[in-house]
Amino acid sequence: MSINSDYFVLAYYHFTSIANPHKEIAAHKAFLKGRDMTCRIYISEDGINGQTSGIKEDAEAYMQWMHSNPLFAKMPFKIHTYHENAFPRQIVKYRKQLVAIDEKIDLANAGEHVAPERWKEMLKTGENQILLDVRNSYEWEVGRFEGAECPPCETFREFKEYAYNLKSKVDPEKTPVMMYCTGGIRCELYSALLKKEGFKDVYQLEGGIINYGLKEGTEHWLGKLFVFDDRLTVPISDEEAPVIGKCLHCQVESESYYNCANMDCNHLFLCCPPCIEKFAGCCCEECKTAPHVRPYQHQNPHKPFRRWYNYFSEDKNKAQEGSCQIPKK
Ligand SMILES: [Zn+2]
Ligand SMILES: [Zn+2]
Repeated sequence: MSINSDYFVLAYYHFTSIANPHKEIAAHKAFLKGRDMTCRIYISEDGINGQTSGIKEDAEAYMQWMHSNPLFAKMPFKIHTYHENAFPRQIVKYRKQLVAIDEKIDLANAGEHVAPERWKEMLKTGENQILLDVRNSYEWEVGRFEGAECPPCETFREFKEYAYNLKSKVDPEKTPVMMYCTGGIRCELYSALLKKEGFKDVYQLEGGIINYGLKEGTEHWLGKLFVFDDRLTVPISDEEAPVIGKCLHCQVESESYYNCANMDCNHLFLCCPPCIEKFAGCCCEECKTAPHVRPYQHQNPHKPFRRWYNYFSEDKNKAQEGSCQIPKK
């Protein structure tokens, strides 16, 4: 995809019963040790959700190694290429829930998986259907399918409310719902919830937007795909797509995300090159004069900022696990 594309960035998930997640975590750590690979991998009793990058040879070895494990023998990997590792470091962790929800959802009753080719057809010919983007609003702002709605689903509870209210607006028995997310995992749960609420025809895009871009290109797609790693946004295919993102400050077209340099704000926003210089990396005038402002450094390409002790070493002890990742708003 890019000119210098020696690295693979893998996205994958699989729901399967894992008796001993900690054993799989240890095996992963042993495999990754000493390799120039970075990742964010979560394993629970219910399965695995992972993203891993590394040079092509290492990434291929990893996929082969995964496929040799009966638990992950049929794991579908979605592959992008990049010019370096896409994650800050190796993270392999236990998670109680792969997607944060507070209730037991019957995955066996999830929405029907729709392959990208059929999804494209359905977008063209479907009538009376609702197209739902179940990602965060900052993901939706920079790229989405034409006509998609972005319900306030930053938490599962908010989505539940949305689903409940939707029932009073449309007939859940007669209104088909097409649902998509980045790589597919969120839809497994959100689609099951809609079905539980009484929606009869619920479809989920198999492998998410990543898979659609790889298989079908950009038809019906606008903008770029937000990703939770150093790349921040990526094109979904080699084909051009219209820019829909806008600079927070001046509203010109923009597809570059920044975390506000005021670390107490940390707002994630789209910004054009002149405005990011003018505001010294901040989202507003007030943030420029706040007490904990990171020094703004011009970077090309821009990366999400690292944990704050990388900027202020005396605060190292205060640094907490999970801080300064790409924030939820
Ligand atoms: Zn601007
Ligand atoms: Zn700010």
